[in-house]
Amino acid sequence: MLIEPFAGETVGSVFRRLATRNAVPAGELWTTIRHERPRLPLRTTPELVPRLVEQLADLPPGFFDSRRADRLFVRCVHVNWRHSNCSMCAPLPAPITRCRRCTNGEPVEVRTRAGAVCARHRRWHYAGADRDLARAANFFRAERCLTGTLWERGIGPDTGELELATTLIRATDLGQEDESHRTALARHYPEAVRLVALATEPWAERFLANTNVGPIQVAALVEAAVNAVTAGTSHDIDAVRASFHAEGRETVIGLDWPMRLRHGRSPGLDDLGRRILTFAPRVRATLLRHTDARKPPARQPRPSSRHAQV
Ligand SMILES: [Zn+2]
Ligand SMILES: [Zn+2]
Repeated sequence: MLIEPFAGETVGSVFRRLATRNAVPAGELWTTIRHERPRLPLRTTPELVPRLVEQLADLPPGFFDSRRADRLFVRCVHVNWRHSNCSMCAPLPAPITRCRRCTNGEPVEVRTRAGAVCARHRRWHYAGADRDLARAANFFRAERCLTGTLWERGIGPDTGELELATTLIRATDLGQEDESHRTALARHYPEAVRLVALATEPWAERFLANTNVGPIQVAALVEAAVNAVTAGTSHDIDAVRASFHAEGRETVIGLDWPMRLRHGRSPGLDDLGRRILTFAPRVRATLLRHTDARKPPARQPRPSSRHAQV
């Protein structure tokens, strides 16, 4: 018996569903395949033989070849080091579980341009969850931001920035330290997406990439951004944008921090800022990760741009 595949469905997902549909344990189906291909590993790893899975599932050849539209944007030589979903360099996002209403209740894993929210069924479906979001307009806005603006900066649901943002936001509410990332993300998705969007805007990128900016200044930026997206208004978000600038050797921080920070005597950070300071290097690396460029293919001259050196 065959299955109906979903766009962008992973090899492993098709393989598992095929086994289930035919009431064969996945391991047993794999053993059958290994009888003909004895060099395959003992462990069930259908990802190694996508063409074979295509044949088993009676899918058209090339079904598992990714579609360009699903790729995360990346900076590469083919598009003059701008972000694009280059068919040679851009990676697919990590697999995500699809909305259970979309799949008639079946567990299906896909690698497509999508986040954690199904707008059609108004469900939260991150990491196998299936939760109603009927009235949570901010979740739908966040989903659009993630699959639009953030996707085009190379940021997907599992590239690391959202996990960091969730950790930073949780640093504001003590007593929730034991929460898993998936539980925390389900609570903080709208603010986490806004934080990532704000902290990866071009001005923030210039600030974080500037070697004259120290960890205290990074913590000040992140503290201001966390406060603005969690408790502030759009006016506060604009104030953050207007307050942190670094050009060459000149670092300017507005709002109420400037003097204290410039002389480095009193950090001028509140409790949240001091907690952020303890992981400033991780903050910086994670928020700048999307600016890394793919290495040019062999024999290309080395690009002169600082960002282009991986
Ligand atoms: Zn490319
Ligand atoms: Zn759905």
